Amino acid sequence: MTEQDIRSMEYDELTALVTGLNEKKFRASQIFDWLHKKQVDSFDDMTNIPKSLREALAGECCISTAGIERVQESALDGTRKYLFKLRDGNLIESVFMRYEHGNSVCVSTQVGCRMGCRFCASTIDGLVRDLTAGEILAQVYGIIRDTGERVSNVVMMGSGEPLENYDSSVRFIKLISDERGLNLSARNITLSTCGIVPGMRRLADEGLPVTLALSLHAYNDDKRKEIMPVANKYPLNEIMDACRYYFDKTGRRVTFEYSLIGGVNDTDADAAGLSALIGGLNCHVNLIPVNPVKERNYVGSAKSAVLAFKNKLEKNHINVTIRREMGRDIDGACGQLRRRVLKDEAAKATKG
Ligand code: SAH
Repeated sequence: MTEQDIRSMEYDELTALVTGLNEKKFRASQIFDWLHKKQVDSFDDMTNIPKSLREALAGECCISTAGIERVQESALDGTRKYLFKLRDGNLIESVFMRYEHGNSVCVSTQVGCRMGCRFCASTIDGLVRDLTAGEILAQVYGIIRDTGERVSNVVMMGSGEPLENYDSSVRFIKLISDERGLNLSARNITLSTCGIVPGMRRLADEGLPVTLALSLHAYNDDKRKEIMPVANKYPLNEIMDACRYYFDKTGRRVTFEYSLIGGVNDTDADAAGLSALIGGLNCHVNLIPVNPVKERNYVGSAKSAVLAFKNKLEKNHINVTIRREMGRDIDGACGQLRRRVLKDEAAKATKG
């Protein structure tokens, strides 16, 4: 794309754009308000901006959008799963979840993913492209508009690896927490990574109070390599060092994501190994039975195994919760809905 995405611009950049067009600075404030508070998708909607300036902007920039292609609502818990279509036709998924402490949105940061985790549907066809910051924001704005509800938490846990799309992910965090825009506290944002060590360290140095979630899923490198190819590049000792660095720099407790796969990483020995690995670290463990993905032969751990695993961690004084499984009945796991729709479309195309 040669056009610049105006929704991805930080306030100062927008100001530079506007003054570069020989306009007054206050126009930047108005435009930022339209883009991030009123969350419009078109220059024509910016009614207090003179037509000449709207035309000049439209000549130089686009506004990234995410149009709702499909929504599925869970009959079990009201979770809403969105399939959005981007300007170039690519499809991405986001999820809206209701919790007691407020509503949460899970955003994608890439179309597809190249990390290759063996239990994950998002990565099966590889990476298509990175999302812009504006496209990550457009998912949140689209959901706010559709539900008419407030969003208090954002988790960067949809499709994609945010630290492989570092600049857009950080820009997204800065924009969504900008007090002139949605003003969502960065403390209510969680960025989840499969363990890209240089990115974790760089993020620690940004001075942003976001929560870092590390997708662990195994307590040693051999086991981790079996389910997560990225483990060949970044060993656990480097990852744990980076987690300690993150805590030292930000004072924020790191979350470890641990998806339990029946018979693979859910035994007593696994719980003991995990306790030894993270014991003493200021952290929190989130357990979730793996969501079965049709294309993969992993199954979620039995409820009894999940509870036994949790008990073992607790005995070892590790802070742990079992993550509520949201939207199980609506292809809740990363990338499942997009895959199903893409496959349906391909089938239709070959039939037609
Ligand atoms: N790439 C980032 C963020 C996206 S994945 C990361 O790896 O953290 C978000 C979380 O969902 C990760 O913890 C990932 O391991 C987990 N996940 C992916 N597929 C899953 C499945 N089928 N069942 C349970 N968790 C899954």
